[in-house]
Amino acid sequence: MTKLALAFDLGGTALRGALVESDGRIVAHASASTLAGAGSEAVISQIVALAGTLLREHPQAKVAGIGVGAPGPLDPKAGIVIAPPTLAGWHDVPLIDILGRHFGLPVRLENDANAAALGEWRFGAGRGSGSLVFVTVSTGIGGGVVADGHIYHGRRGLAAEIGHMTVTGEGDRCFCGAIGCFEAVASGTALGRRATRLTAPGDGSLLRRLSNDGDVSARHVVEAAKAGDANALDLIEAEAQWLGIGFTNLLHLYSPDLIVMGGGLSNGFDLLAPSIRAVIQQRAMPAYRDVPIVQAELGDRAGLIGAASLILWEGGAPLAMAQDDKDRGATPDATEARHG
Ligand SMILES: [Zn+2]
Repeated sequence: MTKLALAFDLGGTALRGALVESDGRIVAHASASTLAGAGSEAVISQIVALAGTLLREHPQAKVAGIGVGAPGPLDPKAGIVIAPPTLAGWHDVPLIDILGRHFGLPVRLENDANAAALGEWRFGAGRGSGSLVFVTVSTGIGGGVVADGHIYHGRRGLAAEIGHMTVTGEGDRCFCGAIGCFEAVASGTALGRRATRLTAPGDGSLLRRLSNDGDVSARHVVEAAKAGDANALDLIEAEAQWLGIGFTNLLHLYSPDLIVMGGGLSNGFDLLAPSIRAVIQQRAMPAYRDVPIVQAELGDRAGLIGAASLILWEGGAPLAMAQDDKDRGATPDATEARHG
């Protein structure tokens, strides 16, 4: 039987677990509402319980290890979750040690946005590239950077906080406290807020009809734009301008082979992409203008699959492929080069 990893995507709302094969395929999936206010021991008990559920479904599974994507800040090398704002009572929790002792298996830990970037790079829209920037645009904006075949961690693992790069000097205050963050102007939340301000309850607009006269969300804007609504198309155009500005910065900073856009707003990718690309043509220096901007492929599975790849991906190739290469006598360099 092929090797499997147990993967967990630990979020402030949901805790999801999966058994993942070395080709990135999810063979079993289970989830629970995170006991986010109950402290680390309660949540770790949930992880153990989900693992039990998954392994009972596949009693023959040969599990090679456990990969975990968790909210930052965290130290991926030491395996310590430092103090995530979405999980109460977590302070310097040595998650790798705790899970490793419990299961007797290798455990790897990665920031959740980086895990999603790894998923898209190794098994999704970024397969075969050497460098990419993954940007997730939903309630907020997050992301991860793969540079020359490695996740770029930076000091204390804090690199690639894409949502909080400053792109303007005005506008609504970001939840981080600053003015002008990319997230504050370009997230799904920001788009919904602009749509809500543009319309009024009872005005009969498609946006308000879709929202039942409540606050308009980014999802409503995408839905109305797909139906050809003029207001919604204007909002999409403004959104694409902001995304284009942020993406132009990312091109200049990281020079990726491609930018992969995921998150809830990527459901409107086809509507947004032409204007995003037009902004890049205007603003980016010529050498960066031909970089593809593509839609993510793995949806909300990217984090789980990326977390699994922390266990299943060795020497630049999935475990099974790496072993095939060894059978054929390929050198590690050759394996590296294929993905570099
Ligand atoms: Zn911010």
